[in-house]
Amino acid sequence: MKVRLTVVGCSPAWPNPGGAQSGYLVEAQGRRLLLDCGPGVLARLREVESWPTVDAIAITHFHLDHWGDLVPWVWGTAFGLGRERPRPALWVHPGGRERLRDFGSRLGREAMFEGCFEVEEYADGVPFAAAGFEVTAGRLPHYRLETYGFRVAGDGRSLAYSGDSAPSEELVDLARDVDLFVCEATLERGELDGRTRGHLSAAEAIAAFEASGARRLLLTHRPQELPVDGGLDLAHDGLVLEL
Ligand SMILES: [Zn+2]
Ligand SMILES: [Zn+2]
Repeated sequence: MKVRLTVVGCSPAWPNPGGAQSGYLVEAQGRRLLLDCGPGVLARLREVESWPTVDAIAITHFHLDHWGDLVPWVWGTAFGLGRERPRPALWVHPGGRERLRDFGSRLGREAMFEGCFEVEEYADGVPFAAAGFEVTAGRLPHYRLETYGFRVAGDGRSLAYSGDSAPSEELVDLARDVDLFVCEATLERGELDGRTRGHLSAAEAIAAFEASGARRLLLTHRPQELPVDGGLDLAHDGLVLEL
C-alpha cells in the first residue's frame, strides 16, 4: 500500500479563482494526516465525506491561509456533524496552545480549540507520531513569524512540505532525499519579496529541490496569475499523487 497525497487546497495568501487555501491530506492504510487547514479546506473535505475523519492535523504557522478553517471546524464539532466524530490530534508549534487560547478568546471562547481537538505542541527537529506517520517539524525563515515545514515518513515513503519559507539551508535540509518535495513558489521573482525574505520564486524552489536530492518536486502556494514553465509540476486543488 502506497502513501497518497491529496492536494485539498493550494492557494497562496489570497485565493486562486474557486480555490481553497493550504491543505494537504496524506494517507496510508486508512490513516489520515492533514497538513495545514486554510480557508476552503473544510468545505472541500466535506464534498467527499459529510464530516471529515482525520486522525491528525499539523499546522506549519499561524498565517490565516494555513489554519483559518480550524475555526469553522470547531463550530461544526460543537453544533454540527462533527459531534459524532473522534477528536483529531492538532499539532502546533511551541507556544501554539497559548496562541490558540488567545485566538479563541477573541473568536468565541478561550478553550474552543481544545474542546474540538487534542492539542499537542511539536518541537523543532524532534520527530513525533501523527496518524501513524513519523513527522518532523523544521524551523524555517518566513518574514518574522515563527514557521515550520514538515517532513513526513511512513510505509517506506517520505515527503517534505515547505509551508511558507524564504530560501534557506534549513529548507534544503528538510527535503533531503525525500520521495516528494511539496514546495511553495509564491513569487514571480525573489527580489520582489520584502527585505526580510519570506517566500520563494519558482527558480528558488527548484534550486532548493536540486540541492536537497529529493526525487520529485511539486510546486504549490502559487498565484494562478503567475504561470510556471512547462515541464514543472504545479499543484492544483484535487490533485492526487501516489508515492
Ligand atoms: Zn501561506
Ligand atoms: Zn505564511
